[in-house]
Amino acid sequence: MSITNNLQQILKDVPPHVSLVAVSKYHEVPELKEAYDAGQRIFGESKAQELIQKHEELPLRGIQWHFIGHLQSNKIKFIAPFVSLIHSIDSLRLLKNVNKEALKVDRVIPCLIQLHIAEEDSKYGFTLEECKELFKSNLLDELKNVKIVGLMGMATNTDDMQQVSNEFQELKDFFDYCKEEYFSDEASFKELSMGMSHDYQLAIAKGSTLIRVGSKIFGERIY
Ligand SMILES: *Cc1c(COP(=O)(O)O)cnc(C)c1O
Repeated sequence: MSITNNLQQILKDVPPHVSLVAVSKYHEVPELKEAYDAGQRIFGESKAQELIQKHEELPLRGIQWHFIGHLQSNKIKFIAPFVSLIHSIDSLRLLKNVNKEALKVDRVIPCLIQLHIAEEDSKYGFTLEECKELFKSNLLDELKNVKIVGLMGMATNTDDMQQVSNEFQELKDFFDYCKEEYFSDEASFKELSMGMSHDYQLAIAKGSTLIRVGSKIFGERIY
């Protein structure tokens, strides 16, 4: 199957209110170009260095770059001028640093708070309690160069789809709670980033608005 075919196949399952982020990490520029030529506009990368390089090599009309991995503070300034959305705000310190770099380039950078709900793997992300603490405080009002537009989460890496389903439900319920409790008058708080190659259909059914799909588009990654 070609990248173009893979994209067409996936897009059949993606309703209009959901956006597809093509996760292109570890894949080469010509592969991204093929996806772009097939109509894909949003690309997700998880390493700052790779994102910076691909952004330079692909100055294409309408292309949008999302950052989805753990972001080191010393790399923020390189992506701040152009990144469209950071999915992976995993600490308050990072959010403050993104705000600082965004100010320097006179931007307001849209961000998602990354939640840690999966049983294992990632040591990154806010707990639901920490996230509520942040939203309850008036800190966000002071951080004028970042805009929290929603939440991101990853389910546990398991074949137990019931567990994955429960975790997506937990994320959706928490998103709805935050929307009502803290962002009811902010239309821009509307994104819920969840779902990857093996579980995006389930994620969409559970209310995802941004799916992050890599291997199902580009094939397996060679690390
Ligand atoms: C790599 C990655 C993905 C895509 O994973 P696939 O299983 O290849 O679809 C999605 N989200 C994050 C945060 C990733 O790091």
